[in-house]
Amino acid sequence: MDCLFCKIVDGAIPARKLYEDDQVVAFHDIGPQAPVHFLVIPKKHIATLHDIGEEDKALLGHIVHTAQRLAREQGCEEGFRVVMNCNEHGGQSVYHIHMHVLGQRQMHWPPG
Ligand code: 5GP
Ligand code: ZN
Repeated sequence: MDCLFCKIVDGAIPARKLYEDDQVVAFHDIGPQAPVHFLVIPKKHIATLHDIGEEDKALLGHIVHTAQRLAREQGCEEGFRVVMNCNEHGGQSVYHIHMHVLGQRQMHWPPG
């Protein structure tokens, strides 16, 4: 399958990994939008949030928990932002679900 993030999971494309287990990989974003900006992705290929099913609920919880744990490790005690862009209107550019974690600066609302 021609999926950039599946290739990062497989190691075919290198990434600056922060964490990996049997279900997820976390790595620094190649175009950081904050002093801390990493992505948490499932090893399982799921194209968009529209495509998650009942069977993925525990996996999504594990992604959130991993994001929280790593954010703290990266010094984001004062807070952080998580973002999951879904499909065209959500501004998704890589079609393998991923949770952005951004921190170490003040975030603003509403987003663009
Ligand atoms: P999206 O726009 O789909 O929500 O987020 C995709 C993210 O993946 C972007 O923030 C982009 O910088 C990041 N990205 C795209 N290609 C690569 C890559 O090859 N390596 C890494 N580490 N990040 C990537
Ligand atoms: Zn994939």
